[in-house]
Amino acid sequence: MKTTEPLLLHACCGPCMTVVCEQLQREGFAITAFFYNPNIHPWKERERRLHALTEYADSKNIPLEIEEEYPLEENIRMLLDAENRCYACFKDRLTATADRALELGIENFSTTLSVSPYQNQAHIKEAGAAASLESGVRFIYRDFRELYRESIKISREAEIYRQPYCGCVFSERDRYLKLKSPGQI
Ligand code: SF4
Repeated sequence: MKTTEPLLLHACCGPCMTVVCEQLQREGFAITAFFYNPNIHPWKERERRLHALTEYADSKNIPLEIEEEYPLEENIRMLLDAENRCYACFKDRLTATADRALELGIENFSTTLSVSPYQNQAHIKEAGAAASLESGVRFIYRDFRELYRESIKISREAEIYRQPYCGCVFSERDRYLKLKSPGQI
């Protein structure tokens, strides 16, 4: 059944945004995108991804909320202290999304993170559910992995910047060492 409910979509980058946004719109959700990704290191890389996302959102007339705060020290400390770095990273970003949705009076939130075949879907789902429980905002979980190849195709054709690593400084190192961050699959 179609819905016309508003939804705040946590967006990590332009390529992931393309297919996820289209899919949720097909379901009838009215999308507002939200960029909160303090896990993207360094600053220049964050700027590059945000720029790509902004251009895409503008081209599709999708409202975009941007969290300008970039608490680098806090983020690195959190990732270092976490039992599972990626779960903590998801939880931080999805909690911020749920909180922003609450502020904006939007009753649903979701994320582009689950389009990636490299992320742990169970952890994304669990982090979203926990953020939902804390905020009272409904988490719309979808496993978007079947759209991953399409996101690559669209971003190549439209020349949308595609990042070569997940985001944090650890994943930037790990791509050269051919390692997976704890929590990635
Ligand atoms: S590898 Fe990606 S999901 Fe995991 S902590 Fe780093 S930025 Fe976050």
